[in-house]
Amino acid sequence: MFKKVEHIGIAVKSLKDSNHLFEKLFGKEHYKIEAVESEGVNTAFFQLGETKIELLEATKDDSPISKFIEKKGEGIHHIAYEVEDIEAEISRLKEEGFTVLNDKPKKGADNKLVAFLHPKSTQGVLVEICQEIN
Ligand code: ZN
Repeated sequence: MFKKVEHIGIAVKSLKDSNHLFEKLFGKEHYKIEAVESEGVNTAFFQLGETKIELLEATKDDSPISKFIEKKGEGIHHIAYEVEDIEAEISRLKEEGFTVLNDKPKKGADNKLVAFLHPKSTQGVLVEICQEIN
């Protein structure tokens, strides 16, 4: 079951510049900066009520974020939905015909297990599903 929009991921060229901009926009500071080595990204998180905004900056040229920015420029990169049982959702979504990019959930930023759906199967929007690690 999908529970809520957990966060929206925004691809940025410079985390430093964008943190400054989003701090001005929201009137509050990010609550964490975290590197996700496996994805080649640095992330910053802002809490807005129940939802978060995740800024993503590439740390290497072959990072998915570098490729995204090359193709589309800075902007919304993915929408992340919190799910109750990520393993069950991966099976369910595959059965429903979605292209799930991860057979097994992997460790993402912000203490989460995550999996992604190919944007081709979700109307052009990269979908992340995530579950808090207890
Ligand atoms: Zn995310």
